[in-house]
Amino acid sequence: MEKILEQAKALQAELVERRRDLHMHPETGWTEFRTASMVIKELQALGYEVSYGDDVIVEAEMMGLPSEDVLEKAMERAINDGADPKLVEAMSGGKTAVMGVMRFANPGKTIGMRFDMDCNDVGEDQSPEHLPAKEGFCSKYPNAMHACGHDGHVSVGLAVAKLVAENKESMSGAFKIYFQPAEEGVRGARAMVAKGIVDDVDYFFGGHIGFKADKENSLICVTGGLLATTKLDANFKGRSSHAGLAPQDGKNALLASAAASVALHSISRHGAGASRINVGVLQAGTGRNVLPDVAVMKLETRGANTEINEYMVTEAKRMINAASMMYNTEVVISEAGGAPACEVDMELGAEVGKIAKATGIYEEVIPFVDFGGSEDCSYFMERVQQKGGRAIYMGYGTSIKAGHHNKSFDFDESCMWETVGFLTKVVEEFGKK
Ligand SMILES: [Zn+2]
Ligand SMILES: [Zn+2]
Repeated sequence: MEKILEQAKALQAELVERRRDLHMHPETGWTEFRTASMVIKELQALGYEVSYGDDVIVEAEMMGLPSEDVLEKAMERAINDGADPKLVEAMSGGKTAVMGVMRFANPGKTIGMRFDMDCNDVGEDQSPEHLPAKEGFCSKYPNAMHACGHDGHVSVGLAVAKLVAENKESMSGAFKIYFQPAEEGVRGARAMVAKGIVDDVDYFFGGHIGFKADKENSLICVTGGLLATTKLDANFKGRSSHAGLAPQDGKNALLASAAASVALHSISRHGAGASRINVGVLQAGTGRNVLPDVAVMKLETRGANTEINEYMVTEAKRMINAASMMYNTEVVISEAGGAPACEVDMELGAEVGKIAKATGIYEEVIPFVDFGGSEDCSYFMERVQQKGGRAIYMGYGTSIKAGHHNKSFDFDESCMWETVGFLTKVVEEFGKK
């Protein structure tokens, strides 16, 4: 086995230890204060130029932020859990994004890699069949759990950073490693990309543990069919009145939102490709005998490409506004998240496949799988492609115990060293191109 792969294998115990520590301290989107502090310190110790907070994020582009109260409590919690208070302060307001850059003596290409850090808002399975419960590394916090494997992503990212630094002499060009907040709900990538921090990247790589890569010792080179998506909140405001004495004086926000929901699901499909719409939350009214004056709706659209998704969004907004007008209410529509689609680069996938095969660690190297979900890594990829660079999204094979976002989710940790070895080889090989 080659040196870099042997080094990766030797990191497995460290990978498991870090992953389990992160698993015990999950942080939901935009509150990754402890995780990001750890990442900053580690990257600095390895000799990376490290940027974070305002230096890697455009505040106006941050979507779906939690309330100030939630952010403040999360900062306190992170400090109590050992985060550096100065770093936490520098990331206040939820600016928990981090970038590390290393430039090498040998000239070459700039390689970008992105890892996401946030957890899910789900309570963890405490039954003894669930490995984190059995081995004592369950989430310490209610309704917060790494149920998507991002604890593994952060561990892998830091280990890649370490191996790249340790093998500096054999690397060429530059390596930019991004740690992204708030991937869940596709909220975080846009604000990082808007800062221009991927504009000089020649080759960009994103990926995920599990999902369709559900076999151990396997790699999916290209995950295609990432759907463009937009998450919308619609807040209806009407006027309350006595339901018996003066219903004519009210403006019914409940009916406006209900009419909008039905209309939304009747948006005409688009002939150019797949589209989706879902009204996932609808809450309205205050009391049985009160004409309802408020309603909150949460919905999402998706499309096979950015144009189809835009069509769905335009239609959705028109229908919400029309339904509101029909009941004489007011409505404010805001964007809570989103991601574009991006081009599938099969050639780059084939090049990656060659590197994967040459490592000898994979039993199966799969060229392409259609995903059918959304991932805001596509913001990074789209921007790199627009600037003339190339980008792909891969799948790192592992066996999973339950579906992603399920309370019993768990992955086979042995995929971590394999992914680290493979990705470090990718940095080495593509830097030389
Ligand atoms: Zn997820
Ligand atoms: Zn995920």
